[in-house]
Order: sequence, then C-alpha cells, then structure tokens
Amino acid sequence: MSDVAGAARFKRSPVRSYVAEARRRSLGSRRERIGPIVDRLALAHRDAEIALRFESDLELLVSVMLSAQTTDANVNRVTPALFERFRRPEDYLAAPQEELERAIFATGFYRQKAKSIRGAMRVLLEEFDGQVPRTLPELLRLPGVARKTANVVAAELGHAQGIVVDTHVRRLSQRLGLTRNEDPVRIERDLVRVVPRADWARFPHLLIWHGRRVCDARRPHCADCVLTDLCPSSRLDR
Ligand code: SF4
Repeated sequence: MSDVAGAARFKRSPVRSYVAEARRRSLGSRRERIGPIVDRLALAHRDAEIALRFESDLELLVSVMLSAQTTDANVNRVTPALFERFRRPEDYLAAPQEELERAIFATGFYRQKAKSIRGAMRVLLEEFDGQVPRTLPELLRLPGVARKTANVVAAELGHAQGIVVDTHVRRLSQRLGLTRNEDPVRIERDLVRVVPRADWARFPHLLIWHGRRVCDARRPHCADCVLTDLCPSSRLDR
C-alpha cells in the first residue's frame, strides 16, 4: 500500500467504518437487523414518544417550531401560558410581535421564532383555512418550517412521510451501521430504505430515547444495551 493510500485508509470516517464493521463482524445486513432493532428498542422504551406537550394540531406546530435550538423541557415550560393567551392563528397576528417575543423569550432566538410563527399563522389562514396541513409539501410552505419540523408534525398527526433525523437519530443510525452519511437528508434517505413504513413515526422516538438513556454521545453504556449483538460499534468484547 502506498503512503497516500495508507493515509487515506486511516483517515476514513468512523461512520464508514461502522458500516464495514457490521460486515466484518457478520452482524447481518441492514435489512436483516432493522426488525430486531425496532422490536428490542420498542420493548426497552415502551414510553418513547414526543416529549413536547400540546393539545391541538396548532399547539403541536408551534411547539415544534419553538423547539429549534433548545430542549423540549424548555419549550414545555413556556407553552402553557403561551397557549392560554394565543389560541387561534388570528390571535398570533392580532397581538404585537413584541408580546409574542416576550412570551417565547426563554426558548432562545425569540425574534426569529416570533417572526416565523406569525408568518406561518398568516399562511395557515390564507392558504389552509386556519388548519394545520398534513402533507410535507404543504407544511414546507409555512415560513420557518424546514424538513425536520415538517416531518415531526406530519408524523405526530398520523401522516409520517419521512423519518425525523435529529442529533440522536444521526448518532445512533451511524453507530448502528444503518448509514454511512453525515448529512441529515442523506441519512433520512438511507433510513426510509430499510425501516418499514409503519415504523417511520416511532423509529426516531426509539432512537432518541435510547440515545438519551443508554447510547450516550460520549460514553455509550454498551453493557446495558439491548442491541449489543446487532451493533457494529459495540464496545463490548466479542
Ligand atoms: S451497543 Fe453501545 S454503541 Fe451500540 S447502540 Fe448500544 S450503547 Fe450504542
């Protein structure tokens, strides 16, 4: 092997090596492993569901928009008073933007979020009769709603059209050798090819809760993990 080839080999991304490692350890193909992965995670995390609290489609949309760059717990602290004051799309437009900014201040990026929420409310009224739409192309028409937000809302409304990729989903999909990509859109594309459509909505919740409880970003607790024999990055001796 030339020096250049050798250097390239050792520079190869860990993501790539997890996919190769799954083959090296004869763990089975992605399609063979995905069924047991979903089943075991569903048993281990029976309570895995969205952590945001909402009682209507509109509250869901606003909560997800507010959750950008902050924690769900932080959003949940703000939304009870917010939803008491702003009940319909019209309410968000009738109040001065500064009032909305004050109400959501604690979620961070409050100026941009207030602007996006008011923009989304305007489009809801102008194009969707004040109702939250179900399809990704429609949801993506709302200002401030990017693919991740649209995927979360559609899935929670029972119309999953893709798989939500957040930081946990990305990390675990890579560690489990389900993708060799870094870009969220490409990771989602890899996941929808192997995850059964019926599981598209719950799959991200399973990975998110497993990531929070077991597969920590810095110190994965492989000894306590139900996936250790299916995971190419397991740190247990094999
Ligand atoms: S075996 Fe370890 S690295 Fe793999 S999913 Fe479980 S905790 Fe994460």
